[in-house]
Amino acid sequence: MRGTQRRRNFMYMMDLTASQFKEIKKKVGTVLLPIGMMETHGPHCSLGTDVWIPREFVKRLDKLIGDKVLIAPEVPYGHSWALAPFEGTIDISAETFSQYVYEIGKEFNRNGFDEVILFNGHGGNIPSLMIVAEKLADLNMKVLTINWWTDYREQILGITKGPGHGGEDETSLVLAIDEKLADPSLAGDWKVSLNPKLKFFNMGKTLYKDGYMGDAGSATAEKGERLYEMMIELILKDIEELWKLQSNSEL
Ligand SMILES: [Zn+2]
Repeated sequence: MRGTQRRRNFMYMMDLTASQFKEIKKKVGTVLLPIGMMETHGPHCSLGTDVWIPREFVKRLDKLIGDKVLIAPEVPYGHSWALAPFEGTIDISAETFSQYVYEIGKEFNRNGFDEVILFNGHGGNIPSLMIVAEKLADLNMKVLTINWWTDYREQILGITKGPGHGGEDETSLVLAIDEKLADPSLAGDWKVSLNPKLKFFNMGKTLYKDGYMGDAGSATAEKGERLYEMMIELILKDIEELWKLQSNSEL
């Protein structure tokens, strides 16, 4: 049992000794870095939702490509301007967060990795991670950023009818991990439409009201399982593209 567990988790950096890490570097050039957020997800979903979901994707990816990627410990805190006025949101400024993630990537590069997958679980992190991806690419790293809810939105809509922070798709993904982490009966269907070109003080209070958006009340674990199975195939295709990428070193 111990042996089985050890083998399954072999590519989790947390489990490796320095000498195992050194050996793995000889055959693996890709680091998978999950990035999340601690923030309110309505009255029905746990604060760790944006950590739980990337963690589950990574667990599934480990079974499929665990011999080809080093799984780094996750970054659990991110930037959330819009949800900062709500209880339980731990908001790191965009400047500090982007610099922090960039330096993590830079350190993996110094340790011999030239490809990085930024597996993001939270919308407020996107602008920072765009900066990070460009800066890491300037170090001649190849970068794949995954924002599952936007990258695969079209296909998601074939399973859950509406997206949203703490909405039907995200809540279903949490329920598929553990039904104790979310209770859709505590949420309803909340939508407000704001012009995305506008920003104003405490905007999140208007946009999210109870800290979520979408038809969270319709979420189920069964839909969540279907979402994982559908997205994992698309994620694998994106990772294959990262591996096929040829850098242009000419200036
Ligand atoms: Zn979320």
